[in-house]
Amino acid sequence: MAKKQNKERSSITKVRHTIQYIFLFATYLLGLRHIMPGRESTGGAFDAFCPMGGIETFIPYILTGQTLKTTNLLTFAVLIGVIGVSLLAGRAFCGWMCPIGTLQDMLAGWAQRLSGGGKHQIRGKRSKAKFPMELSPEVDKWARYLKYLVLLVVLIASVWTVYPPLRDICPARALFSFELGEPLLVSVLITFIITSLLIKRFWCKYLCPLGAFLAITNKFAPLRVTIDKNSCTGCARCEAECPVDIPAIPENMRNLECVQCLECVETCAVEDAVVLKLG
Ligand code: SF4
Ligand code: SF4
Ligand code: SF4
Repeated sequence: MAKKQNKERSSITKVRHTIQYIFLFATYLLGLRHIMPGRESTGGAFDAFCPMGGIETFIPYILTGQTLKTTNLLTFAVLIGVIGVSLLAGRAFCGWMCPIGTLQDMLAGWAQRLSGGGKHQIRGKRSKAKFPMELSPEVDKWARYLKYLVLLVVLIASVWTVYPPLRDICPARALFSFELGEPLLVSVLITFIITSLLIKRFWCKYLCPLGAFLAITNKFAPLRVTIDKNSCTGCARCEAECPVDIPAIPENMRNLECVQCLECVETCAVEDAVVLKLG
């Protein structure tokens, strides 16, 4: 059982974090752009740049030829881009690009450090920190289905609404659009921060309809993480690093919840037990 080169493995995380921060920064710029004085921003409202907006306005557009207010054809272009990434690499958008996922990872990291985890966490070792904590496996298993219900409700509601149904309670708007005059959005912002500190990627795991929509691509995307049954020792080092708490056992590959972050590839100490595979 040879160990992989740590150097090579740490570079994956560095690249991923860099990409995550670039998308996070770009999204804040997009939000700022809409509140700057002067000429009206091109491209439409902040919502027009959100892939979820494309899902929300899809049925109304098919039925009436019109997009919902605050979305436009650009919203479809953003959604198509995200679907393109997902067809190749499953939910890689969630693990590498989505700024909401990135902020949750950051909040979980802070919670861990501040609640007894210390500054330097040992990779692959379960933290002794109090937070973030995990729901009981049974509750967690059923709660993960909630996001599919949210997606269904959003799709049905979109037929009768004028604005995207999620608009008033959308964490993306609460986090990035700087529209903090709206009490409902401020409540969403506070709830998002608290839940992310308490439970890793709470919004992603239990509520996000975009994550639910993209999950299906994990089943057939050619670029995917694979665990070799014969090499895996079941040590669960990878599980300790997984941002969405997937028990990393070979039977769990192509899991709908996997965000293709490659932390398991990075963490596993057994040569070729877990690899990124094409095809
Ligand atoms: S599940 Fe939703 S919020 Fe989470 S990373 Fe994916 S798209 Fe973003
Ligand atoms: S994939 Fe690697 S880290 Fe994960 S349980 Fe198997 S041997 Fe351990
Ligand atoms: S199973 Fe691996 S690639 Fe998937 S989310 Fe967990 S750590 Fe990331």
